[in-house]
Amino acid sequence: MHVLVTGGAGFIGSHTVVALLERGHDVTIVDDFENSSPVVIDRIEQITGIRPALAEIDLLDEDAFEVAFAAAAPDAVIHFAGLKAVGESSADPLRYYAHNLGSTFSLLKAMKRHGTQTLVFSSSATVYGDLQEPPYTEEGGRLDATNPYGMTKVMLERILSDIAAAEPGWHIALLRYFNPIGGHESGLIGEDPSGIPNNLAPYVLQVSIGRRPHVNIFGDDYPTADGTGERDYIHVVDLAQGHVAALERLAEVDGARAWNLGTGHGTSVKQLIAAFESAAGRTIPSVVVPRRDGDLPRSWADTTRAEAELGWKATRDIADMARDGWRWQQRNPNGFADDRTR
Ligand code: UDP
Repeated sequence: MHVLVTGGAGFIGSHTVVALLERGHDVTIVDDFENSSPVVIDRIEQITGIRPALAEIDLLDEDAFEVAFAAAAPDAVIHFAGLKAVGESSADPLRYYAHNLGSTFSLLKAMKRHGTQTLVFSSSATVYGDLQEPPYTEEGGRLDATNPYGMTKVMLERILSDIAAAEPGWHIALLRYFNPIGGHESGLIGEDPSGIPNNLAPYVLQVSIGRRPHVNIFGDDYPTADGTGERDYIHVVDLAQGHVAALERLAEVDGARAWNLGTGHGTSVKQLIAAFESAAGRTIPSVVVPRRDGDLPRSWADTTRAEAELGWKATRDIADMARDGWRWQQRNPNGFADDRTR
């Protein structure tokens, strides 16, 4: 298949592009590099020996996107592009709604014009809000979120489901990610957040190489085994392979359907820090601070549906995630900014 990948230079996008190329698919990346680096394209080529086509375009620029879409003439689209910082979304909701919804409308209009009806959408476990106790199952029905970022995912899942119900011929995967971490085993691509990382794993990695003094543990008084928050961390390469599995099964699925992409296991903040300490062979200092607003005590996936219907299962454990995350950070202490070839 020829797959158009929006946000293909980002963390999950880049690993998915590698997985697609390794499976023999053709790829066109659409990315404006607002929150990613062009160096990623070189690294993808280093890993796979194939340089994916690139359209450096803001999806909100509908005219430019039309030209790029027509030129690529894709069989399918994987849509990663979007803003994703939870705290920022609460501070500037209009920007988040305008950007994440507007760019998806631009994409959907182009897909309709060109009769491309196969779409894999980046959703998130955040759409479960606090409506269920873990493990979260897709059957729950009602969706909710506690912040504008999460609401853009809830709204877009609904919009995509409505379109698929109203018009015949659509095949849409709504992939609900749990907590992707780690990096490619080559150490060439990984997570490179701009500014202070919001998420635990990149923060821990920056402490491990001395860029930050200590990890702040957001609360140790949760009703969990060691009192710290538990999450379903999933290796980004497993997640990427989940996208390929969904894409390759979508022809048999009519309409829109949701699948969880997680491991089905919870790991606490303290356990995750300990895994990174083992991988790095050094102590990672931490300080317990108050809970972060809006954080749930525990979240993990029921993976039954993805296993049964996509024939996919995460195979990498926390030690693998820590090893590959550490390798990436150690070789690229300042992320892609260390690459001087550009
Ligand atoms: N967390 C933490 N310190 C940090 C960032 C996160 O203790 O600097 C905790 C957070 O409270 C949660 C877990 O780590 O229990 C994962 O947080 P992250 O932001 O990575 O993912 P999310 O909350 O979106 O699942």
